Amino acid sequence: MSHPLDTLPATQVLRAPYAADPAASRGRRYPEPAPRFRSEFQRDRDRIIHASAFRRLEYKTQVFVNHEGDLFRTRLTHTLEVAQIGRTVARTLGLNEDLVEAIALAHDLGHTPFGHAGQDALNACMQPYGGFEHNLQSIRVVDELEQRYAEFPGLNLCFETREGILKHCSRANARELGELGRRFLDRTQPSLEAQLTNLADEIAYNSHDVDDGLRAGLISIEALRETRLLRRLFDEVERRHPHLDTRRRIYQAVRLLIDSMVADLVESSARAIREAGVMSIEDVRAAGETLIRFSPQMRDETLELKRFLFKNLYRHHRVYRMVAKAKNTLRALFQAFLEDPALMPPQQYTLALEAEHRDGERGRARVVADYVAGMTDRFAIAEHARLFDPAERS
Ligand code: MG
Repeated sequence: MSHPLDTLPATQVLRAPYAADPAASRGRRYPEPAPRFRSEFQRDRDRIIHASAFRRLEYKTQVFVNHEGDLFRTRLTHTLEVAQIGRTVARTLGLNEDLVEAIALAHDLGHTPFGHAGQDALNACMQPYGGFEHNLQSIRVVDELEQRYAEFPGLNLCFETREGILKHCSRANARELGELGRRFLDRTQPSLEAQLTNLADEIAYNSHDVDDGLRAGLISIEALRETRLLRRLFDEVERRHPHLDTRRRIYQAVRLLIDSMVADLVESSARAIREAGVMSIEDVRAAGETLIRFSPQMRDETLELKRFLFKNLYRHHRVYRMVAKAKNTLRALFQAFLEDPALMPPQQYTLALEAEHRDGERGRARVVADYVAGMTDRFAIAEHARLFDPAERS
């Protein structure tokens, strides 16, 4: 008699024909033997979780700086929310959950400390040297900066995972990236798994920024009701539960917000996949447009919500002052290290000398940008004090 274990290889899950197939991967930059117990995409996910850049996500933030409170999202909790939302939609649509999870866990690895403010400041500093873009930096992290394995630099991830991490890219940068950049030049589409992770990211930050913004007292329920989407959801909460306390009302609305965006995404993507008639990942790539998408109504409503958050949260006076401080901190660190790379730890100093030997000042600046971008919020703050405050130990 056969035992269930005989017929249950852990890596085999039913998937739609348009899903990415790990057995048909375009492969890794440095060929490796196939894993014994995992699919290629599972192996990618595991390598990402073991990366030091992944652990640093815990002390990096998006909107609120780390020391403002322990309840706010960090890049790590944001990343987990993206993975969780992505996996649900992937399973519903018959896509490859492991690939979605790997892309989601890696999607923010290249982010600087202090969220968008840090990215803007570092990009401004790097203008003479080719700029700084967090998407490209995520690729640099997984391709080069993580030095852990004996056989290759970086994490040596599959093409499909790297393709998903590189959400967007300028044509100039795309030309330098070879095969990975080609779709930005010939305008083909990435896998459905990559498309999905992109929108799971949007669902996650739209909803947790509403939650965090309300919790911080920077936005109010009344103000949020200016947006069609939140007005509808708060009305629904009040109709169903008229006597809820504020905290539960907020949580209930945020829960409905995630739920309604996910439901809309599943339904309209399923319709688009059906109508496009795609039966393979090649069909997906040639489809001429992305198939994982919101309905036109949800797209308008989430756009309205994003505009609201931009104006009322990301540009809020308190956030804006923090942004200014964050930019000054990063700018000062960058300039000090660029002027005198010996101020960096010996390992980075050596890298800077080597890069300068190869590419001149451009090379040195890239090593400084890598070092600064890799910092957590609290490390950047402490490093700034050590460099500029004579009373601090260096
Ligand atoms: Mg993100």
